[in-house]
Amino acid sequence: MLLRDRVALVTGGSQGIGRACALVLAEAGADVAIGGRNLEKLNAVVQELQATGRRAVALQVDVTDPAQVKAAFAECVKQLGKLDILVNNAGVTKDTLLLRMKVEEWDTVVNTNLKGVFLCTQEGIKVMLRQRYGRIINISSVVGQTGNAGQTNYAASKAGIEGFTRSVAQEVASRNVTVNAVAPGFIATAMTDVLGDAIKSKLLEKIPMGRMGTDREIAGAVKFLASDEAGYITGQVLHINGGLYM
Ligand code: NDP
Repeated sequence: MLLRDRVALVTGGSQGIGRACALVLAEAGADVAIGGRNLEKLNAVVQELQATGRRAVALQVDVTDPAQVKAAFAECVKQLGKLDILVNNAGVTKDTLLLRMKVEEWDTVVNTNLKGVFLCTQEGIKVMLRQRYGRIINISSVVGQTGNAGQTNYAASKAGIEGFTRSVAQEVASRNVTVNAVAPGFIATAMTDVLGDAIKSKLLEKIPMGRMGTDREIAGAVKFLASDEAGYITGQVLHINGGLYM
């Protein structure tokens, strides 16, 4: 039990990579709070988490809203007693070429993916600095490094996460709080389900391993970075992409 009696909060924990992270952290011994906008979906995952024998809490929160984020973190600490691990996973895409991109499409993606990480990390480190212990893992993307036509908003938000990660890592390292990012490649979830078959097979051709990744392959790395074994790793970006970007 790598994470026995740790408390974790996973944003976007109702499905996909966030749900897998929540389950893997619970299986490793952590009590887990999951955040998202849809309470019904969160409650279904809470039942799966409780089946592991750990405590689990659903937090209805829009990560773009400062007041909701503050309340969600307070509720997590109230119900689970502390906060050791924060996985900033909530994210969205609104893909279109830059010439056609509406301001709302830019704002939705940057506010969810980047402002959300800022707000949640700010609340998370308040608790972690007091505890003199914390593990923050931000979910970036391979396109934060490579760029991707049609994803200027998304790539900017993910590249932003990586600069943010290195900066806050320097601010909190002396208090035993580590901050790292995991950058997935092409993972089978609802986010990538919407891509057409033509785009998918073109992408697969570029992946040396010749397949999409699974949500649990991302969650396994998150579990490691959340553990005591990763205590001297901070400010890093771990790429998990089947060789798509090296
Ligand atoms: P999904 O679309 O399956 O899940 C996204 C999650 O984020 C949902 O739980 C959703 O819940 C939540 N969410 C979205 N907006 C908000 C918000 N404003 N406030 C709170 N929660 C929100 O995505 P994935 O599991 O595929 O992706 C998870 C993360 O991994 C994202 O950051 C994504 O960018 C990143 N990633 C994914 C890759 C992939 O190939 N799938 C590749 C690289 C990175 P709800 O809508 O109920 O709020």
